[in-house]
Formats: sequence, C-alpha cells, structure tokens
Amino acid sequence: MRRRTIQPFFRETELQKTDLVMPVFVDESISAPLAIPSMPGQFRHPVDGVADYCERLRDAGIGAVILFGIPAKKDSEATEAYAPDGVVQRAIRSIRERLPGMVITTDVCACEYTDHGHCGIIGETVDGPDLENDLSLELMARIALSHAENGADIVAPSCMLDGMVKTIREALDAAGYQDTLIMSYSSKFASALYGPFRDAADSGFSFGDRTTYQIDPGNAREAIMESELDVAEGADILMVKPAGIYLDILASVAGFGLPVAAYQVSGEYAMIKAAGERGWLDERAVALESLVAIKRAGADLIITYFAEDVARWFNEE
Ligand SMILES: [Zn+2]
Repeated sequence: MRRRTIQPFFRETELQKTDLVMPVFVDESISAPLAIPSMPGQFRHPVDGVADYCERLRDAGIGAVILFGIPAKKDSEATEAYAPDGVVQRAIRSIRERLPGMVITTDVCACEYTDHGHCGIIGETVDGPDLENDLSLELMARIALSHAENGADIVAPSCMLDGMVKTIREALDAAGYQDTLIMSYSSKFASALYGPFRDAADSGFSFGDRTTYQIDPGNAREAIMESELDVAEGADILMVKPAGIYLDILASVAGFGLPVAAYQVSGEYAMIKAAGERGWLDERAVALESLVAIKRAGADLIITYFAEDVARWFNEE
C-alpha cells in the first residue's frame, strides 16, 4: 500500500498532452468528414471543416497538428502541392485564422500530388524511370516555401532526398522565413506499417515502390547516418518513423541533442485498434503504454493518431 502511494513520485516518464501531434488529412474533394476504413476513428476532413476539427482538438488540449493534403487533381509534376489555392495552403490559412496559437506542421512531399505516386519528379535512368534528384529538390523547396508563406510553423520534408534539408533551409532563409522550422523525416524506414496511411492519403504507386529511398529495417547504422546528415544540413527537429518497433533508433537519435519527433504510424495505430475492437487487448492501456515507451526512448514530440483519444482519456481522469 505504502509502495503504491510513493510510486508516482518516482515515475521517470510521464506522458502529457503537450507531447502529442495529431495527423490531419485534408481532402479537397469532399464536403463532409469521410471515415478511413483501415484506421477506425480517423477521418479525412474537408477544407472548410478543418478549422472546426482543429478547434475541437485545441479544446481537448491538443495544440499541434501535422497536415496531409489530398488534392482533387494530380499530375506528373505535383503542381497542386505548391498552388496558392492548393488544399494544404487553404487549410493552413483557415486554421491559422481561427486558431492563431495552433502549431501547424505540414508534410512536404509530392507523392500525394503526383499521378505516378512517387515523391518527386521522375526522369529516365539506366534502370528505367526513377526520381530525378535535382528537379525533385527544387520541387520540395517550392512546396515548403509555399507552406511557410501561408503560415506553417514547421515544414516536414518526408521524401529523404540527398540535400533536401539544405535546399529547403536555403529557400526559406532567402525568402525571410528564418523562423520556420524544419522537421526532417531523417530516419524513415521502408516499413510495411504504412499500409493504412496509403488508404487515407490515396498515395499508391503506378510503378515501383519507395524502397530505394527509405531505410532497410535491418540497418541501424544507416539510420543514424541519415540523421547525422540532416543535422549537418540544418534540420531543427529529427524524426524516427515508425516509432514503436524502432525504439533503439529513437534512443540513438535522441543523443544528437536536437529535439526528436517519433511518428507512431498508421499500421501501429491499426494493430492496437483492431485488437482492441476484438476484445483481445485493452486499447486504451496498450495505446498509453506504447506512447509512454516512445517518450521514454527519447521522443520530445509524438505524432500519433491516438492524440485526440489520449487527450479525452486524460480529461476524463
Ligand atoms: Zn512522399
């Protein structure tokens, strides 16, 4: 009994609402929230409903979001990704107007905007069609700048191209956005846990996959090296993705001294959710345990689809 009374004073890691970032999908083609079948409890939001949703998050105690856009039109060069009236640009403006204090991060990539589903501009190489590095870098800088211009606090480039962070930093600085932070998806593994996200964001492929520019799950040294490169290029926040089954990587990357974000991805969410729905696991207990473990391993920020649920659970206590 005595032991139980004293225990909370010795707890080393305490999960808080301010640790959490909620991923928000904004779909230009819908007029009401649309459920995502492989991620129960998650929805795509229409552009004119996204500020309402973020206000609900803010009221629950979640003060940070990361936005993913689903454009109505795709093309080979992802032009909608940087269009002034693109889906993310409009979403940022409407959230910013309603909730000046909300921390807005944006995913900077092209894969949701290209008709071929890849993360940049495709060129012909000796091995067939593949990402054209320089043109893709230019595109990333253009997308990041357009998000900053519309009011994003943090831009999060996710495609892991060589030189990506440096190119974006230079473009932001040159335009006067020195205060816009870069959260780099620095240690992003070629994981099978991204499946449900592809349902959510319509980002399948017309050919190939992303294994050429994501890290092999067996490679720890490579993951650390990728993060070191991003530190050298000027990243403000590093990221490890997925989170829960890469805690060793997270602990190593946390040693660099920069803030570290961990992305508990769609598959991690779906597994806990599905087992919870079948009564095989206690969803709430397992979700909280997974998040506390991610924080214990060194994450300063946790991007998680459970963010709103956790805030509600804490508010009920
Ligand atoms: Zn991408």
